[in-house]
Amino acid sequence: MQPLKRYLIFALVLIVLSVYGYKRMAARIEARPVITHHEKLRLRNDAYARHVAASEELTQNKVYANLAEVEQSAGKKQLVEVKEKRGFKVDKLTHSVYFLVPQAYAVLKDIGHEFNRRTQGKHFFTVTSLLRTDEQQRKLTRSNRNASPNTSTHSFGTSFDISYWRFDGVKQQNEKLQKVLEEVLADFQEEKKVFVVKERQSTCFHVTVRPE
Ligand SMILES: [Zn+2]
Repeated sequence: MQPLKRYLIFALVLIVLSVYGYKRMAARIEARPVITHHEKLRLRNDAYARHVAASEELTQNKVYANLAEVEQSAGKKQLVEVKEKRGFKVDKLTHSVYFLVPQAYAVLKDIGHEFNRRTQGKHFFTVTSLLRTDEQQRKLTRSNRNASPNTSTHSFGTSFDISYWRFDGVKQQNEKLQKVLEEVLADFQEEKKVFVVKERQSTCFHVTVRPE
């Protein structure tokens, strides 16, 4: 073969290969979902008044004053005992008790289940607060200026706190798992199942179940 001919064939092969390579690269770029820093976070902060209104409607305005009232309602199945389930554990509670209204516990279990599923069954979050009686709320207010005495929806048993600073029991930031949690909460929020507010002081999401 003449050197010129050989050179032309080589050049042709090179052109074909680069066109093919470029097309593949372009296809791959197109297939990748576009995630940028400018992407709007879907999880919104719902005004606290909405948490209160939902709680009042769900419980017909039943607020728990003390532990005796909690026990009484638990006996009537108006409150259910909360235990750790798939996707979440419950912290050792000091200012609240292991109870919620049945609708709130059902939603908490669904959130845990979904979080666990989206992390390939490997991870869990921590619940740091459940039902807080008025009595407990008053004690907490004395020790923590941020806990307002009159408006806490924890006293209805309709709210729970999920830490965004503790995944798999480790107290530190975990951006990846926090993002998954936020995505799950945003979905539940969008489906009108919950109201959510981020409480930076206590590094948690305050979640209130909504009436159906
Ligand atoms: Zn809370």
